[in-house]
Amino acid sequence: MSTVSPPGAPAPGQLTFVAPRRAKPARHLADLTMTERRAVVAELGEKPFRADQLSRHYFEKLNGDPELMTDLPATAREKFAAALFPKLLTSVREMTTDGGTTRKTLWRLFDGALVESVLMRYSDRTTMCVSSQAGCGMNCPFCATGQAGLTRNMTTAEIVEQVVAGARALAAGEVPGGPGRVSNVVFMGMGEPLANYKAVIGAVRRMVEPSPDGLGISARGVTVSTVGLVPAIGKLAAEGLPVTLALSLHAPDDELRDTLVPINTRWKVAEVLDAAWNYAATTKRRVSIEYALIKDINDQEWRADLLGKLIKNKLVHVNLIPLNPTPGSKWTASRPEDERAFVRRLEFHGVPVTVRDTRGREIDGACGQLAAAE
Ligand code: SAH
Repeated sequence: MSTVSPPGAPAPGQLTFVAPRRAKPARHLADLTMTERRAVVAELGEKPFRADQLSRHYFEKLNGDPELMTDLPATAREKFAAALFPKLLTSVREMTTDGGTTRKTLWRLFDGALVESVLMRYSDRTTMCVSSQAGCGMNCPFCATGQAGLTRNMTTAEIVEQVVAGARALAAGEVPGGPGRVSNVVFMGMGEPLANYKAVIGAVRRMVEPSPDGLGISARGVTVSTVGLVPAIGKLAAEGLPVTLALSLHAPDDELRDTLVPINTRWKVAEVLDAAWNYAATTKRRVSIEYALIKDINDQEWRADLLGKLIKNKLVHVNLIPLNPTPGSKWTASRPEDERAFVRRLEFHGVPVTVRDTRGREIDGACGQLAAAE
């Protein structure tokens, strides 16, 4: 089998917007709208209602193998398997922690590219953290994924399959806590979702549309996280999909953000915050500002104060993330007292703020640690 190896490490600050052109995986049912599925089924010489049947098998029963769809004629099963259910993801390795309620899977894609997804079960919800690209072109120096460069965009079905795999494990009772379902999806795995816009929107639609079109996950439970691709944020606002937007800000001033989040050299803090407020106004959804606290880099009280002034009185929430360690990085998480002072400063401005837990750190499955090596 030929495999796609990751590109070399990008030079500091170098951005890659256009993913390398590579062979695409075969078409999968989850790539298609219901209308498109009916057309494919008709082309195969089968009755259009079979598209509904196949879709219910996949999105409700989480069955992706037509051989097991015994209510279909045997001859049709073979045709459907070949035309609509290629094997897209192969599990290479599973790692678990938190008594089995956090589980990271390393997947091999059809061409050998590697990606990771993480399932996190809490008392009141289960979140799937999915990848949208193999690697990432945004080159944030504190993020392990960014250091490896961009291998390729993922397709809609490759993204959806990560959620279906998690849903299957939950339904089968493989995750401690009894049988369950996926309630939340966060695009916080590998990749910059808004740099793979079309496939990501397709995946979001499959996730939120009710069966038989899709998985029927509440749009409010879906979060798209971005470094701040301003035109794409505008487009997302206009989709009429009330998903949560998370903005990886990490610094309130252009000087520092230019180095921490290199996309800032293209779109400045003021522009990306404007795009976020426009998103909030259009969707009525609270925007989440992601801020990894890095010791002595971005955790000074004056920066908390500046951030507070920039975002006070907006439909916003700040998620502080203690920096997770990544290979080769000299940076570490803030001192506890600096973290507390940062929180207090934001609260002083009336800004809602929480400190995110560092689930999955022990298995390199936490924010910024996904690097997908075997
Ligand atoms: N490219 C998108 C999606 C990835 S989300 C984005 O950047 O938003 C991953 C989240 O984890 C982002 O908020 C990212 O900035 C953050 N992150 C990256 N590296 C991290 C690290 N080492 N510690 C904590 N958070 C990190």
